[in-house]
Amino acid sequence: MSQESGFDRYARQIILGKIGKEGQKKLLQKKVVIIGCGALGSSLASLAARAGIGQITLYDRDVVELHNLQSQILYDEEDCKKLLPKAIAAQEKLKKINSDIQIEGKVEDLRSSNLLSCMEGADLVWDGTDNFQTRFLINDGCQKLQIPWVYAGVVATYGHVMPILPSPPCFHCYIEKPPAPGEGDTCDIVGVLGSAVLTIASFAFTEGLKILLDKPIQSRLTIIDLWNPQISHIQVPPRPDCPTCQKKEFPFLSQKPTASQEGMILCGHNAIQIRLSPLDLDEISQKLKSHGDLQRGPFLLRFHHPPYTLTLFQDGRALIYGTQDMKRARSFLAKFLGL
Ligand SMILES: [Zn+2]
Repeated sequence: MSQESGFDRYARQIILGKIGKEGQKKLLQKKVVIIGCGALGSSLASLAARAGIGQITLYDRDVVELHNLQSQILYDEEDCKKLLPKAIAAQEKLKKINSDIQIEGKVEDLRSSNLLSCMEGADLVWDGTDNFQTRFLINDGCQKLQIPWVYAGVVATYGHVMPILPSPPCFHCYIEKPPAPGEGDTCDIVGVLGSAVLTIASFAFTEGLKILLDKPIQSRLTIIDLWNPQISHIQVPPRPDCPTCQKKEFPFLSQKPTASQEGMILCGHNAIQIRLSPLDLDEISQKLKSHGDLQRGPFLLRFHHPPYTLTLFQDGRALIYGTQDMKRARSFLAKFLGL
């Protein structure tokens, strides 16, 4: 396809004086990473692909479930039936939306050990995560690599957005430490309005787009409520003793997971995630099939054995639904996987 005909799809965006042809050319050269492909992440990814951002990499560790369809616009019932990971389902949908750009979905759990390699070379990172631990990690990584990122979060009918540049203030200036498990509201606890997701994603996308286009940006926190329509801004001052942007200690990135951190309670999901070594799912399927209801997808297996449901991924992640007790989860794994 010639460059001119390739530009036809962006005609309305090019007419827009704020972007223009030069802006479009710039976007086609850009590389972005979207971490988390749930409600916000899938909306951000859809907007990014339609806008013609040249290279989009998506990271997500979850599988599409029926209750996701209310607020996660890239997925459908077929994805649920096929037990597709969100990163793969999103990648396939986005390729149908725009085949002129590069889109890659990766089924990965971002941790301190792999975060930098996932973000290296990106011009921008969009936050589509649902937890503060990962956001602090993204903040450390982006500050270290000097990559701008856009923090976005939504619950119930409202959400927060803050573009964070390589210069202070950073996310760690805004929040000193992650909330304790169960302390903050989550979509699983208080629910979420689909239209609030789309509004927050649209705002976060626009802030990111301005960064990619080298337009002026204010690194301030914006809070938007959809139900009682309201928009407010908070200036976040740089914290002189910020361990991330001032002292350059990058404390979240430097954390090496201990044995106990290798198991993590997924608050709001009544589940525990434990990381194992890479798994041979075919072999495990054979062992488990006579012990309970087993479903096998191309990238995972799901094993129902009341009161627990176990989901195993090839990369070694085990999700044990039905408990928040680490010992019970480990005992369940020990019983069925001999670990
Ligand atoms: Zn800071």
